[in-house]
Amino acid sequence: MEKAIFLDKDGTLIKDVPYNVDPGRIVCYPDIFASLRLMQKNGYKLIIISNQSGIAKRYFTISDLDIAFSELSDQLKAEHIILDGIYYCPHGEVTDEPVCTCRKPLPGLLHKAAKDLDVDLKKSWMIGDILSDIGAGRAAGCRTILVDRNKKERRNFRISDPKFTPDYIVDDFYGLNQIITSDTINYERYSVK
Ligand SMILES: [Mg+2]
Ligand SMILES: [Zn+2]
Repeated sequence: MEKAIFLDKDGTLIKDVPYNVDPGRIVCYPDIFASLRLMQKNGYKLIIISNQSGIAKRYFTISDLDIAFSELSDQLKAEHIILDGIYYCPHGEVTDEPVCTCRKPLPGLLHKAAKDLDVDLKKSWMIGDILSDIGAGRAAGCRTILVDRNKKERRNFRISDPKFTPDYIVDDFYGLNQIITSDTINYERYSVK
């Protein structure tokens, strides 16, 4: 079985522009490239896991979204990074009743990707910038890392809920490399204040 790193897109890999599908406004954070290359070199599949409720809200179409994703793939390819999969939830936001099983923090997309690509979830990681990414990763049995670029999400009240507690909190992808590549699993958590 394979091991994977599941990656949120907006606010994690690229600057968060809400509901954006304009390829001209897709800007990667510069710290991601070396880190993603290292993950790839260490045998991890790289798989995007993204909530895209703009589809359900009819802000954009699936083909608009495809264009945006292929722009991101191309930018990564130019840096010698090949994505192994892109999975997204096109459904609306959960209000009282979940409308699907794939919108993060639900783990449906991770389960689907794992099945499609023969991934062992226990050997895999979920990396994202908000706690719903962490919730999805934990629910799927992955280890999780919160990339908290502006040091705000770590103050979210849900971080005290074990279902949403990341294994690690880092400020950016520069902080990730040692965690991912040292295959010693260290569950000691960064202090959360
Ligand atoms: Mg995000
Ligand atoms: Zn969904």
